[in-house]
Amino acid sequence: MKKIIVIPGDGIGKEITDSAVAVLKKVDEKFNIGLEFEYRDAGGASYDKYGEPLTAETLEACKAADAVLFGAVGGPKWDNIEVSKRPEKALFGLRKGLGLYGNLRPVKIYDALIDGSPLKPEIVAGSDILIVRELVGGIYFGERCESEFVDGVERAWDTEIYSVPEIERIVKLGFESAQKRRKKLTSVDKANVLASSRLWRRVVKEMAKNYPDVELNLMYVDNCAAQLAINPKQFDVIVTSNMFGDILSDEFAAIGGSLGLLPSASIGELTSFFESISGSAPDIAGKNIANPIGCILSAAMLLRFSLKEEKAAHAVEMAVDKTLADGFRTAEIYKDGLKKCSTTEMTQAIVDRI
Ligand code: NAD
Repeated sequence: MKKIIVIPGDGIGKEITDSAVAVLKKVDEKFNIGLEFEYRDAGGASYDKYGEPLTAETLEACKAADAVLFGAVGGPKWDNIEVSKRPEKALFGLRKGLGLYGNLRPVKIYDALIDGSPLKPEIVAGSDILIVRELVGGIYFGERCESEFVDGVERAWDTEIYSVPEIERIVKLGFESAQKRRKKLTSVDKANVLASSRLWRRVVKEMAKNYPDVELNLMYVDNCAAQLAINPKQFDVIVTSNMFGDILSDEFAAIGGSLGLLPSASIGELTSFFESISGSAPDIAGKNIANPIGCILSAAMLLRFSLKEEKAAHAVEMAVDKTLADGFRTAEIYKDGLKKCSTTEMTQAIVDRI
């Protein structure tokens, strides 16, 4: 059996993970994978029960599992509690505890939703990009100084450090992801200014010799941000550092339209972690109107990356494509003339198409 820990969390987390589990159960029936689900709390739900956003038992259960399917955490109910107990701390605890070193965010522009993108249809049509972001190193984790005085002038600083093994680990994920897609990798850095980027670039070039089937392109981050708006179709897989990935992945997400549509995977040393890129959406929680597609596509990534069930992953992605093409829309992407549906109706439509 393959053990999946399901962490609904807070807000719409329960609704969207229920949808993803319904889809996984259908896929299990069809492809005979042998899935087993175990539910755990995190975030506000865990704080309310145990006084902690993430318990040691939950972390241990995740470490021992084949994969973790996560909803979202946070909400106004917990906004004023002590910082160390805030729901979002559960995410940091899981990232650190599971050694989640690489974040994968695919952004695909569905023909059916093309007018939801802020870019012109002729520019954005057919874009299908995977961004691979380093998640546990670089400037977000380097030594820093909040305030010091030098010659009477206050200043602050951060440091970006990358070691060769850290770069190799994430770049390998980039090359391997490209091999499974259209075999094109763009490595994004700022090697014209930063020493850490020059090392990054040197390692990437060296590693490229082991992946002759992948076309490599080296790009500065400022150019990449511009190219995304000018010609997003040129990209297949992008690999980059923690901070550049943080910024670029949000820019990429914006061209996709709704937050509720986009999945993500965080690849770990012990296990991997799958979640929609949106938060807990407290404004719509409990109303059965959240878009479950981001979480359902995260489940497809779980099948692909953790369970190596490529056919099953593809079946889920095709069912989502077909459901959108057939006109089903949750409230936030609804347009006149289409089929307005609830979370559960959208889920059923997808399940029926697997
Ligand atoms: P959010 O992503 O929850 O919501 C932003 C907007 O997008 C809202 O209007 C919401 O209704 C809409 N939206 C989000 N997901 C949707 C979906 N599936 N279907 C339809 N509409 C959807 O961001 P926020 O409002 O800034 O944050 C709310 C809470 O979520 C906060 O407590 C924040 O800390 C937390 N948060 C959690 C995560 C996580 O668990 N990974 C990530 C980001 C924010």
